[in-house]
Amino acid sequence: DAPLTDLDPEVAQAIEAELSRQQGTLEMIASENFAPVAVMQAQGSVLTNKYAEGYPGRRYYGGCEHVDVIESLAIERAKALFGAAYANVQPHSGAQANASVMHALLTPGDTILGLDLAHGGHLTHGMRLNFSGRLYDVVAYGVREDTHVVDMAEVERLALEHRPRMIVAGWSAYSRHLDFAEFRRIADAVGAYLFVDMAHFAGLVAAGLHPSPVPHAHVVSSTTHKTLGGPRGGIILTNDVEIAKKVNSAVFPGQQGGPLEHVIAGKAVAFKVAAGEDFRDRQRRTLAGASILAERLTQPDVTDAGIGVISGGTDVHLVLVDLRHSQLDGRQGEDLLHSIGITVNRNAVPFDPRPPMVSSGLRIGTPALATRGLDEAAFGEVADVIATALAGDGSAATLASLRARVDDLAARFPLYPTLEKVQ
Ligand code: PLP
Repeated sequence: DAPLTDLDPEVAQAIEAELSRQQGTLEMIASENFAPVAVMQAQGSVLTNKYAEGYPGRRYYGGCEHVDVIESLAIERAKALFGAAYANVQPHSGAQANASVMHALLTPGDTILGLDLAHGGHLTHGMRLNFSGRLYDVVAYGVREDTHVVDMAEVERLALEHRPRMIVAGWSAYSRHLDFAEFRRIADAVGAYLFVDMAHFAGLVAAGLHPSPVPHAHVVSSTTHKTLGGPRGGIILTNDVEIAKKVNSAVFPGQQGGPLEHVIAGKAVAFKVAAGEDFRDRQRRTLAGASILAERLTQPDVTDAGIGVISGGTDVHLVLVDLRHSQLDGRQGEDLLHSIGITVNRNAVPFDPRPPMVSSGLRIGTPALATRGLDEAAFGEVADVIATALAGDGSAATLASLRARVDDLAARFPLYPTLEKVQ
């Protein structure tokens, strides 16, 4: 029973270094967050030892009386949080949740209609190399070139032309609300399932600060680790009993074996946290931070440098920076912000002339900083640091002063103050 630091100092040191990195930099990758210590305690518990194939009360292994309690709590809390009649909390990840939904409702060769990856969709919505692109016939819709907003007229036209079995709504890099009722109307008109992947905005939905897809979609999936702020994993929700049965059997035994009960315990804790008032305030600051950033990045000093904001602003937790007309490409922008202690990811923008590995955009999100406690004033400071970095002179003196401002913010909003050392 040697502690990690004794048994495996190499791994322990790398974990400690990662803790320092998270504490000492500003995390603005839109899909990341900081799980509460209680969630990490659940994940680091003895539950990792337990096999529990099946579902609560219907397991293929003995000794499941305690994991049944935990998984039932997670299911009930997920249902209550999102107002869904049925929940499956076993998917190991968002991608596996999506694979399970498609496995449940489609046959290989069926047509799916999803948002183009290059316009903000996710790999699992039909990308060529992903299972979704290999198993299904994919038709992609996109955003309008003038507004960068999903073109519902195009969605309808493609749906009528290709008669998909499933329409996928949801995104990884998009800054506006989708019209779920309109998606459902189109799906009904062609006899398709409407599947909404709310992985990115689930925390906003839980807080009542983003329209919920649950009343509109046949089935909804999510990750639990992005805006929702829980452990890395997936969930599937539906209001339809027949779909719920198909989803359950698609997750197990269709896609997975033993569920990760330690992660499911973390999900249960995260859903409890997400039902609270502090969580709502955090999501409110998340949205405010993104708006403040979008506002700052549309001021003349930034636009004069050829930098823009995709769709002109944001309704959600992220801002898509358009570098197509700037001196910087996406990779250079990411490296520049990294050099002053701000972590973001480069991202293709719609109609991007550059290859995806370089790209002409940045995706900048506020969930992790809101979890860290940043308020509107602090987000204003972050926004000014980013704007000055991207549009400024790039001199060593400027970058050093920006790094000092980042260090000051990191010190003012400490992360995991009780986790000084790997336990
Ligand atoms: N769905 C969407 C919309 C996502 O953005 C992501 C993650 O990037 C996923 C699914 C996949 O989640 P995971 O990385 O847990 O497989």
